Amino acid sequence: MKENESVSESHIAQWRADFPILRTSTQSGKPLVYLDSAATSQKPQAVLDALTQFYASENANVHRGIYGLSELATDAYESSRRTIAEFIGSCYPDQLVLTHGATEAINMVAASYVATVCKPGDEILLTVMEHHANIVPWQMLAEEKELIIRYVPLDESGALDLEAYAKLLSDKTCMVAFTHVSNVLGTINPVKTMTEMAHAVGAKVLIDGAQACPQIAVDVSLIDCDFYVASAHKCYAPSGVGLLYGRPDLLEMMRPYQTGGSMIETVEFERSTFLPPPMRFEAGTPAIAETIAWAAAFRYLQSLDLDAVRLHKLNLQRLLHDRLQGFPKLKIHGHAEKKVPVVSFTHEVIHPHDLATILDSEGVAVRAGHHCAMPLHRYLDVPATTRASLSFYNDATDIDALVKGLEIAEELFA
Ligand code: PLP
Repeated sequence: MKENESVSESHIAQWRADFPILRTSTQSGKPLVYLDSAATSQKPQAVLDALTQFYASENANVHRGIYGLSELATDAYESSRRTIAEFIGSCYPDQLVLTHGATEAINMVAASYVATVCKPGDEILLTVMEHHANIVPWQMLAEEKELIIRYVPLDESGALDLEAYAKLLSDKTCMVAFTHVSNVLGTINPVKTMTEMAHAVGAKVLIDGAQACPQIAVDVSLIDCDFYVASAHKCYAPSGVGLLYGRPDLLEMMRPYQTGGSMIETVEFERSTFLPPPMRFEAGTPAIAETIAWAAAFRYLQSLDLDAVRLHKLNLQRLLHDRLQGFPKLKIHGHAEKKVPVVSFTHEVIHPHDLATILDSEGVAVRAGHHCAMPLHRYLDVPATTRASLSFYNDATDIDALVKGLEIAEELFA
């Protein structure tokens, strides 16, 4: 589909119908207008069905039982790993560690890989647009191992300043960790170029894909990064599951992150030996039903006309920017050329929390605050922003509701 084409109403209506929560009303009695998908996505019926189906007819623990039901659950769980691996590109299932979320996956790389290879004085390069999940684990490690953290700044549009990035990279850089898509600005970062540049100085690369996986096509082998992380709950699936993709040689040299059942080869009173990746990093009972439901979410997405989905989101993003620009007292933060429909803004008069409360009384769910990106807000010199984040299940009427809520708020504060 071409960029100036529009997506048929029936397509959009069908996508919305797939998400039962969109037919509900809020506590204020108004129909729910959900504009907080960057915090967590809504779940389609196919995912709800997968959860029910597992608990109704397949529930057993995995990897342990030698009875039929446990084998069924294990097969469903491991085949879900394969589906999830396919979804992030040409990644082999052995390269895919199932974690409890993106946060745990980043902590795992910091503790089990970087902690073992870095030496005092080495540098970790982050960007000013990172989520706390991709800042704090590195700060803890830096304190412990005497590492130095540096941050890549932004240009005026809210894109990363690649010239500054090039200058910050050096043979001291041991790890570069950056987000694929900003959860505040919506900016899509040039991850392949950034990875090539980091590799050229011998640094390893971790990409935080928490906001990218639900919005754009991801192929880890094309990007050629060393690690990639994401969370299921942002990808139309349940919470409690995430992924860590790792290059096989790196996963192989990594220490276990947590220990216990499921990750051991042998346990003696004196010592234990561990399974190869990915099982080495999956101690304890995993989130079985949630992982199976994540695979169902991917299958659901595959069943959609993905060109139409992409175009619809582009149209929504343009419409959202255009409509918000109709409010002279409102400032949008983030105008990068390549972005997803995530828009954060401040108002000259109305505090983001007041704005979000008034919008809530109109049924419109937006996020207000620092969105777990306090350093970015400090960099932008604003204490907080209001964020509207859209997905393919939103439509133009949702943007109308946001605009109406903003008009009401301005009248109240006039
Ligand atoms: N990275 C980014 C860019 C995010 O937006 C989030 C969550 O909002 C995370 C990491 C952390 O994800 P989770 O809380 O699912 O581990």
